[in-house]
Amino acid sequence: MNGGQRILRCMRTPHWLLIAFASWSIPAHGADKLRVSSFSTILTEIATEVGGERVEVTAHVKPGVDPHEFEPKPSDLKVVENSQLILLSAKHMEGYIGKLREATGGKATLLEVGNTLPSLKAAGGHDHDDHEKSKGKHDHGEEDPHWWHSVTNVQKATRIVRDALIKLSSGDKAVFTQNAAKYSSRLDALQKWVRGKVAELPRDQRRLVTSHDAFQYFARENGFTIYAIEGVSSADQPSSKKVSEIIQTIKAQKVKAIFPESIENPKVIQEITRETGTKVGPALHADGLSEGEASTFEGMYKHNVTSIVDALK
Ligand SMILES: [Zn+2]
Repeated sequence: MNGGQRILRCMRTPHWLLIAFASWSIPAHGADKLRVSSFSTILTEIATEVGGERVEVTAHVKPGVDPHEFEPKPSDLKVVENSQLILLSAKHMEGYIGKLREATGGKATLLEVGNTLPSLKAAGGHDHDDHEKSKGKHDHGEEDPHWWHSVTNVQKATRIVRDALIKLSSGDKAVFTQNAAKYSSRLDALQKWVRGKVAELPRDQRRLVTSHDAFQYFARENGFTIYAIEGVSSADQPSSKKVSEIIQTIKAQKVKAIFPESIENPKVIQEITRETGTKVGPALHADGLSEGEASTFEGMYKHNVTSIVDALK
């Protein structure tokens, strides 16, 4: 809520005390906060942790929402208009970035966080037909945009967001630096836990069969090989050649479980499990934060790691 909205809301209650309180409180607590718009659930968490009391973060892409399908509504653009910092996942995730840029009128900082992190290619890639089908849904070429499945990347993103906030409010440098260090040390602890958990699984069993190709960064960091049933986007459909390749791989490598995190094609999953005798593992969180245990980055990551390691053991 910005200062103007706060006054309006208070004015609806015709009580002199409320009005007096509102006009007294705004300069101290509302209007001088940095206004941040976030289009990634991960970046919403980072900005909230690093910015603390000094920022007002609006989460446009809410937990559980598919970022590949998201399109900003006029109400989103209205908030963006008044924001000072716009946080984007990027690596071509936000096809609507032009609309946001237009809404800011060039006044805000658009930070495409993922673009400053190294890119990994998607596993199988797609042929031309696949590309036509997924056009407009996930216009990314061959790179995997899901950079947050690397804890190291999330730590880098934390530093990038910290520096952007400091640039906008240098007086808060000490607070932002301290908050970022605190969050980063929690990520250190998470990374340590992940290494211990993944070590339970021998290297030659670290084979991850997923539905949409979202775990390249996870695989690189934790020593897994990815076999994606679909393409990078949840909108892609697998070819029968691809499905029989996957079946061969699962048989040859004796893969104990597969992880179709969005079952859009249950027939394909049934075919694979019938042909190979492999089981379907718990659903993984591929596209960002969600509800319950996956409402924080640490919880989401621990869920994925535990699900993968325990099902493949
Ligand atoms: Zn995805």
